[in-house]
Amino acid sequence: MAKKNFKTVKKSKQKLTEQVTMEKLTGLCKRRGFIFPACEVYGGFANAYSYGPYGVELKNNLKKLWWKKFVQDRADMVGIDGPIILHPKLWEASGHTTGFSDAMVDCKKCKKRFRADHLVEELTGEDMEGELERMTQTLKELKAKCPECGAFDWTEARDFNMMFETKMNGIEGEVYLRPETAGAIFVEFKNILDSMRVKIPFGIAQIGKAFRNEIVAGNFTFRLREFEQMEIEYFIDPKMEWKKIYDQWLDQQEEFILEVGAEKRNLRRYEHPKAKLSHYSKKTVDIEYRFPFGFKELFGLANRTDFDLSQHSKFSNEKLEYFDPVKNRRYIPHVLEPTFGMDRTILVALLAAYREEKVEQGERVVLKFPKHIAPIKAAIFPLLKNKPELVKKAKQIFDSLKNRFVLEFDDHGNIGKRYRRQDEIGTPYCITVDFDTLKDKTVTIRDRDSMRQERVKINDIEQYISE
Ligand code: ATP
Repeated sequence: MAKKNFKTVKKSKQKLTEQVTMEKLTGLCKRRGFIFPACEVYGGFANAYSYGPYGVELKNNLKKLWWKKFVQDRADMVGIDGPIILHPKLWEASGHTTGFSDAMVDCKKCKKRFRADHLVEELTGEDMEGELERMTQTLKELKAKCPECGAFDWTEARDFNMMFETKMNGIEGEVYLRPETAGAIFVEFKNILDSMRVKIPFGIAQIGKAFRNEIVAGNFTFRLREFEQMEIEYFIDPKMEWKKIYDQWLDQQEEFILEVGAEKRNLRRYEHPKAKLSHYSKKTVDIEYRFPFGFKELFGLANRTDFDLSQHSKFSNEKLEYFDPVKNRRYIPHVLEPTFGMDRTILVALLAAYREEKVEQGERVVLKFPKHIAPIKAAIFPLLKNKPELVKKAKQIFDSLKNRFVLEFDDHGNIGKRYRRQDEIGTPYCITVDFDTLKDKTVTIRDRDSMRQERVKINDIEQYISE
């Protein structure tokens, strides 16, 4: 929960100067089956999106990459998968029921609702998150115009709680859809201690959906009301030197997004000013990415001290402590919380991969994903779809490789069009079966990035792609 981390530093408004714009990217995502506006047949709904066939492959690859890097490859990490609907008391303990809010303001003329802090930041470059009075005053003083209708007649800025409420059979009162995944981790702290052989420092990781009733969703999948997070709670000894571990986590968070294809020059760190840190945080840093709409938060890292475990201990009457048998000490651990947004990671992967290039045949759009995250690793084409012997051979090759790689079989249109489609979905290799294949058992493999074509023996394809 970063809502109470007020920021006051003026932020520069650098924009991504590359060819990619959000219009181009959203167009490509829809045209090529990555991301669709959800419920379009009903006119769309609440800025929600569906991941299409390539989007879901990309998402799964990114989840796997994250899980491997932060859970499977590390001896000090374990994973869980907790429920979305959790005990309502949990949200009281964590402070969400009373404090998880954003500032909203309505235009009195057109009745449209906005994030007050965002309007003010647009005008002044200052982040006044949490300072309702100043926001109201600033909007008045600067005669801020409504982005919708141009009027300047605002209501007062006021807090709006972003938790999604719902009802549940057999439970009195409201229950909530979790606004972040972290809560589900803290309540399993004791079970992890009891069932696993973890020793401090250790972390618990989780990937899952979170729900926030955002006042304004937008910028494509950057701000959604239903989104996915990848979160870690990393438990440390309060007497430990935490700053070094903290910096290592920041480095690893950046390392992850670089592995997804981001360039270092499009990343920056933003430390929340000490004076405005929320009561539980010793230090909070956002990792920001230069989106086409400016530098915005991608990931975050907070030192949340013993706030969460102490609160859950207090509200549940369960001791949430750790016993160190070597030092013979019992204590409530402190926690570092690296948090990653899945949907923003996907957006960065797409933005960073997008290229428009001049080629012999004119221009091409290509998604130059790092190969390990590409949704489809290779496409297999019979040169002509009406030649059964070519189709049969191509299908045989498909079957011989399908257990190793995610493949696509395509026999539509001419080869040029098939290449164009595979470039636009970022497929590293296209394999064409032609008449020579039937004679000499070789295929043409075309490389996405260099566009070079090579003859490769059928038996060597697997190794060629793996390398
Ligand atoms: P923001 O300031 O952009 O609202 P936040 O500070 O509220 O983000 P956190 O509470 O720190 O975000 O959530 C952790 C991560 O979850 C963020 O770094 C971001 O990647 C992702 N995230 C948060 N809110 C949304 C959202 N509405 N849509 C998509 N991803 C989100």
